[in-house]
Amino acid sequence: MLQHLKQKQKQLLEMRNDFYTARGTHVFFKDPLENEDIDVERVVAKAESVIPEHLLSEFEMIVIGWFKEFEDRDINAFYKDGVLHISSMQVDEKDMFDDIVHEIAHSVEEMYGYEVYGDQNIRDEFLRKRQILHDKLWALGFKAPIQWFMDTEYDREFEEFLFEKVGKDKLRMICMGLFINAYAPVSLREYFATGFADYYLYQDHGLLAKVCPALAKKMNFLQDVKNLDNRP
Ligand SMILES: [Zn+2]
Repeated sequence: MLQHLKQKQKQLLEMRNDFYTARGTHVFFKDPLENEDIDVERVVAKAESVIPEHLLSEFEMIVIGWFKEFEDRDINAFYKDGVLHISSMQVDEKDMFDDIVHEIAHSVEEMYGYEVYGDQNIRDEFLRKRQILHDKLWALGFKAPIQWFMDTEYDREFEEFLFEKVGKDKLRMICMGLFINAYAPVSLREYFATGFADYYLYQDHGLLAKVCPALAKKMNFLQDVKNLDNRP
């Protein structure tokens, strides 16, 4: 009987294509991937090869599927308690790679909160950019109080102001040369995560260094384990 159950479990696992990566990350399919052309093993292997080992140690598992949180917050990935939750709806491998690396960034800021934010350098840079964003939007007729822009935390209403009132396309244009993309101004944490993803998405860090020098410097710092050697 037990043998039978084990066999059944094994069959179910095989059907869902769950797997473990070389470093032991469990990749679990809650729902099948919509785009069958995407090779998830290859995408995860790439992420785990370009990001240094010491920045991968906070998460243990990747769950691919569709989650209620995605609809509630209009997102397609999130990090919680050592698990990367990644949408089963992906355009292509680059899109999925971006989601995975972005959520790894959130695991890194939890593990190395002091190293990431302690010196306030990223925060100061972020707030300077938020100030400029405020002024640009004000000039275009999107008048919102400056205090709103000086809050580094995620604020649903602020996000709606950006993406619904100003709108994605206009925001993208305004953010050019100011933020790495239109999602970066949402909060300090997203500012860090978008920069982190950009750093590992592209080998050339020139644009990141030019647009967000403090963030690029922080990425170079985090990259070297010797800077973080007070941790296990
Ligand atoms: Zn994020």
